[in-house]
Amino acid sequence: MQLHYTVRGAVWVLIYLFFILAPLFALLIGSFPATRDFWTEFSAAIGYSGLAMMGLQFGLTARFRYVTAPWGEDVIYYFHRQISLIAVGLVVAHPLIMFAVQPELFTLPDYDELPWGAVFAFMSLLSLITLVVTALWRTKLKIGYETWHVTHIVLAVAAVTCGLLHMVAWGFYLADPWKRALWICLTILWIGLLLYVRIIKPLILLRRPYRVSEVRRERGDTTTLVMHPDGHPGFRFKPGQFGWLTVYGSPFKITGHPFSFSSSAEIADGQVEMSIRNLGDFTSAIDKAPVGKRVYLDGPYGAFTIGNPADMHVLIAGGIGITPMMSMIRTLADRGDRRPVILFYGSKDWESITFREDLETLRARLDLTTVHVLENAATGWTGERGFITAEMFTRHLPSHYADHEYFICGPDVMMDAIEKALKGLGVPLSKYHSERYSFA
Ligand SMILES: Cc1cc2nc3c(=O)[nH]c(=O)nc-3n(C[C@H](O)[C@H](O)[C@H](O)COP(=O)(O)OP(=O)(O)OC[C@H]3O[C@@H](n4cnc5c(N)ncnc54)[C@H](O)[C@@H]3O)c2cc1C
Repeated sequence: MQLHYTVRGAVWVLIYLFFILAPLFALLIGSFPATRDFWTEFSAAIGYSGLAMMGLQFGLTARFRYVTAPWGEDVIYYFHRQISLIAVGLVVAHPLIMFAVQPELFTLPDYDELPWGAVFAFMSLLSLITLVVTALWRTKLKIGYETWHVTHIVLAVAAVTCGLLHMVAWGFYLADPWKRALWICLTILWIGLLLYVRIIKPLILLRRPYRVSEVRRERGDTTTLVMHPDGHPGFRFKPGQFGWLTVYGSPFKITGHPFSFSSSAEIADGQVEMSIRNLGDFTSAIDKAPVGKRVYLDGPYGAFTIGNPADMHVLIAGGIGITPMMSMIRTLADRGDRRPVILFYGSKDWESITFREDLETLRARLDLTTVHVLENAATGWTGERGFITAEMFTRHLPSHYADHEYFICGPDVMMDAIEKALKGLGVPLSKYHSERYSFA
């Protein structure tokens, strides 16, 4: 399976590189305009590449399961963020180099003589810069997630469309039919990706609704939605994976919310459960969803799932990061899998431990040890206190640390600290798996 994913991953990387580099190689084919200096050519080339990268972002965020499976969604979103910065760097460098080599191009003519090519370039750059600033500093700028998400899509479409129009209006290299054909194909691909994400995929989801069959209150300000497929068989998922949930509105709504499945992957009738902590607008309304309500689920996604059965599985959860672990534990219990599992579970206090009783009951059905770590432990608590640390691992785990498999899910600060602690214990990167709950 691992080899299969490595090969599949390598193929997708090559396809990605092909699309990014095609505009550069295309510069070398067909007829050439009159020779220009190196820096002008270079500036045009990086502008083309930057634009190709920007356009392909629609593909990266299109949630193609077959493409994202080798890495997992959080890695893809991380890549999306990093590659955006490179693309923006290239696009911004393009006019800066042009300004350095041909400053006369930038002397402003009368307003009514301003070439369209320049107007589109300015609009594309402005959209891009706004897009980056709002993406990097969304929380500092106090922009709500949903508002930001809609704005992000509008700005991305505007930046790429204006970039294309700038290229067409300037006509640099586009006289050649091969180069024109390449850009027409790329444009069709980008429009196709957008149509797929915003029209085709929602239409598919619309025909495969789910119904809420139970709304269960859990400890720790958390609600579990039990959902059944309505008129279709549903999907199978691996324990640890997640889906995008739309409760209010249709699948055409721009923003769905990602939640891990908390139920066993072995339930036969397509039933899925998501356990949702009250953290904001959407999550605070979940406990009011009536039984029988129609909802939409897009999934399963993610590469965060149980590994080699011969290894001890060390599950490390902080707060609501318990949900994918719960799915793993319930699935192992249903499968009668007796691999040793140890759960380190950080919570605020004893009363707010989500699934506390379920974990206790499940211990009878599998080889599970639970180490509760309480931030605000009451006097008399004899277990672990504070935050999960490397010392706790040395206290509770067999000492051949590099042989176990580690699964981590929780707040970013906790995950960073645990990853550092595991590195300190000599655990190789290949042995730990993580799911981050912050894509943006
Ligand atoms: C892979 C994954 C699995 C998750 N699993 C669970 C789970 O099992 N249980 C659980 O309670 N929470 C889970 N979350 C977190 C959950 O998605 C957010 O808490 C929820 O979407 C917040 O929505 P809100 O409108 O209530 O809060 P808001 O106040 O709008 O947002 C709070 C924060 O949540 C993030 N967020 C909000 N909306 C989205 C969105 N549509 N997509 C991505 N991030 C968003 C943003 O960083 C935002 O700042 C998961 C997140 C990810 C990425």
